[in-house]
Amino acid sequence: MPQRDYPLEKVRNFGIIAHIDAGKTTTSERVLYYTGSQHKIGEVHEGETTTDWMEQERERGITITAAAVSCFWTRTDEPDKKDLAKKYRFNIIDTPGHIDFTVEVKRSMRVLDGAIVVFDGVAGVEPQSETNWRYADEANVPRVCFINKLDRMGANFEKSFQSILDRLNKNAVRMQLPIGAEEKFEGVIDLLDMKAYGFEGEMGRDVVEIPIPENLKSDAATYRAELVEKIVEQDDQMMNEYLDGKEPTLEQLKATLRKAVIDNKLFPVYTGSALKNKGVQQVLDAVVDYLPSPLDVPPVKGVNPKTGEEVTRHASDAEPFCALVFKIQRDPFVGQLAFFRVYSGTIEAGSYLYNSTTGKKERLGRIVRLQADKREEVKKVYAGEIAAAVGLKDSKTSHTLCDEENQIILEQIKFPEPVISLRIEPKTKADQERMGMALKELSDEDPTFKVASDPETMETLISGMGELHLEIIVDRMKREFNVEADVGKPQVAYRETITQGSEAEGKYIKQTGGRGQYGHVRLRLKPLEPINEDKKISKNITREEHFEFINSIKGGVIPQEYIPAVEKGVREAMERGIVAGFKLVDISCELYDGSYHDVDSSEIAFKIAASMGFQDAARAARPVLLEPIMKVEVVAPEKFMGDVNGSLSGKRGAIEGIEERGLNRAVKAKVPLSEMFGYTTQLRSMTEGRAGFTMEFDHYEIVPKNVADTIIAGRK
Ligand code: GDP
Repeated sequence: MPQRDYPLEKVRNFGIIAHIDAGKTTTSERVLYYTGSQHKIGEVHEGETTTDWMEQERERGITITAAAVSCFWTRTDEPDKKDLAKKYRFNIIDTPGHIDFTVEVKRSMRVLDGAIVVFDGVAGVEPQSETNWRYADEANVPRVCFINKLDRMGANFEKSFQSILDRLNKNAVRMQLPIGAEEKFEGVIDLLDMKAYGFEGEMGRDVVEIPIPENLKSDAATYRAELVEKIVEQDDQMMNEYLDGKEPTLEQLKATLRKAVIDNKLFPVYTGSALKNKGVQQVLDAVVDYLPSPLDVPPVKGVNPKTGEEVTRHASDAEPFCALVFKIQRDPFVGQLAFFRVYSGTIEAGSYLYNSTTGKKERLGRIVRLQADKREEVKKVYAGEIAAAVGLKDSKTSHTLCDEENQIILEQIKFPEPVISLRIEPKTKADQERMGMALKELSDEDPTFKVASDPETMETLISGMGELHLEIIVDRMKREFNVEADVGKPQVAYRETITQGSEAEGKYIKQTGGRGQYGHVRLRLKPLEPINEDKKISKNITREEHFEFINSIKGGVIPQEYIPAVEKGVREAMERGIVAGFKLVDISCELYDGSYHDVDSSEIAFKIAASMGFQDAARAARPVLLEPIMKVEVVAPEKFMGDVNGSLSGKRGAIEGIEERGLNRAVKAKVPLSEMFGYTTQLRSMTEGRAGFTMEFDHYEIVPKNVADTIIAGRK
C-alpha cells in the first residue's frame, strides 16, 4: 500500500486572492516557477500562464475558473533543497478576482486553509479587495498580505500598508521594509531576523543576504520594535518577560506569530514585485511559517444522513473517508475533472465511494493531481489533501463523497441564485445538437449558471450572475463546443411569489366512454419566508429553498401512489409563473383533500388537476413580481459625490452610507439590478473615468406596482 510521502503538518492548502490586475496571475506564475514545477516563464501579456490555461481566459487576462495546482516548496534558508524531509506540499487553489465571480471566491474559501492576499502597491486596497477580505473574514481564513508591484511608478509601500490598516484590519503587521521603490526597488529588509535580502540568478531565484543600507537602519530598528511588541502582546508570559527587559528569541517570535495568524489575530504584510522577481519567495516562506496546515484548522462538521446527528471529522488518515467536491472543470485531455478536498480518511484510485448528497455509489476511476505543467497520476489520496477525480459521473460541485459505512453530509456550499438571463438560439440544426451538450457540461461545471427552456416559446434561456458571466459562457460555447448561436439582450431574472394564503380546488375529470380521467385535489397555499438551505423536515413534508410541499391527506382520500404526481404538477406550475411568466418562489403548498376514482384516476390526471388547482390558488393569493436588489459600492473623488448620489437615487437606489477612502469617497447603496445595466458607461462619463464600482446580489424584493405594470405589459 502506498504511504504518505510527507507528513500532514507539512501540507498547506491556500489560495491567492486579489483585486483584478493586482498581479495575482503573475504572482501565481512565479510561485510555480520557484517551486520548481515550472521552468519556463510565460508573461501574462503573452497569455502563457499555467493557472490561466483556458484559451479564453488568456485573451481576457483574467482567471475565471478555479483550478487547484500542487507543488513542493523548501524554505529559502534551507541549505539542502533536495532533502525530502524539508519539503512542504503546497496545494494552491485558484480564486478569480472579477466581480461576476465572487461566488467562486466564496466557494474556494471553503476548501482552503489560508490565503495570500495580493495588493497593487500603487493603488493599495481597492473595492474588490475589501469584498474578498470580508469573505475571508466570514470563512475565518488566515491571511498573509503581499504588496506587489513595488517597482511601478507611484508605488508606495507605506501608503499601501496604511490602506490595509485603515480599511481592512488594524492588526496587519509590517514584516518587511522595502529597499528603494519604483525602478530603484532592490530588495527587502526582514524585520524579524533583521537581515536584508536581494535577488540574484535566473528569475531572481537566489535569495542573497545584502547589507542593510545605512539610511534604513534606524527605520528598521523602529519598525522591528513595533513588530515585536505586536507579537509579544499575543502572549501574556512573553509580554511579562519582555517588559522585564528579556528579548524573545526569533523562534519564540515566530511561534507566537504563527499562532496569532492562525487565530486571525495578526496579518503579516510582505512586499515585492512579482514581475521583477523580487520578494515572492519570502511570501512562500511565510506560507510555511504562518499559514495553517490541515491539522491547525478546526475539524470539519457534517450530518449523518441516516440519523440527522452532527458528526465531526478530524484531518486524520485513520478516520473514515469524507471529501467535498469543490469544482468540476473540463479538461482538454481527460474530459471532466472533479476537484475534491479530503477532510478525513483516505481513498484509493479504482475504489468505490458513496456520494451522500445524491445517495449513489460511484466508482472512482483515476485520480490526478495537477501540477504546473503536467497531470500526475495518484494512487491514493490522504486526509487534508486536494486532488481531482476523473470519471465521476453524478458527483457535482458541493457534493459530499464518503465511506458508505460511515456516512456524512458536509455543509453544502451555498450558491446565490442567478439574477440575469438571456435567450439563445442555435443558428443551425447541428448547432442545436451541440448546444444541448455544451450547456449541460457548462452548467455541470458552474452551479451559478442555469439553463431552462421557456415553456411557451420553447426558446432556451440561460441565467447567471452578471453580464460578463453570460458573455463568457456564450464565448466558451463557441470556442470549446463549436456552437454558433444568436444571443438576446441580457434580462433581469425576475421572480414571482404570493403575499397571502389561499385555497383552491383542481379537478380534471373526463368521461368520454371507455376509460376516462379523474383527478381531484384541494390545495392550500401560504407564503414562505425565504430560506437558504435544502432541508427535509419530516416524512410528509419536503422543504427546500422556495418550496414546501405538505401532504396531509388522511384516510386514503387520495391514494399514496398519486401524491408525487400532485407535487410534480404543482412544481411545474410554479416554474411557469402566474403574473408574468417568471418562476414562483417561497410558497408552501398543502394538499389537504381531494378524491379519486377506482378506474379513471391516473398520475397524469392528478398532475393536471394539481397544476390547475395551484394556478387558481396562486391567483387568489395576491401574487407579485420580485426583483433582484444589488449591493452596490461606488468609489469616486469627492467632487463627484453629488452626481454619483444623484445617479443612484435616480435608479430607485437606497443610499446606505458614505465613507472616506483615502482621497476618495465610497457610496454604499442598494439598487435594483434592472436599473444597473450600462452603469459602467454612465459612471465613466460622469466622473471623467475616475470612479469604480462593485456590485453583488443582495436579496429579492417586491417590484413597485408602477414598475411591475410596465414589466407585465412588456411580457404580453
Ligand atoms: P491579475 O489580474 O491579478 O491576475 O494580475 P496580472 O498578474 O495579470 O497582472 C496585471 C498586470 O500587472 C500585468 O500587465 C502584469 O504584467 C502587471 N504586473 C503584475 N505584477 C507586477 C509587478 O510586480 N510590477 C509591475 N510593474 N507590473 C506587474
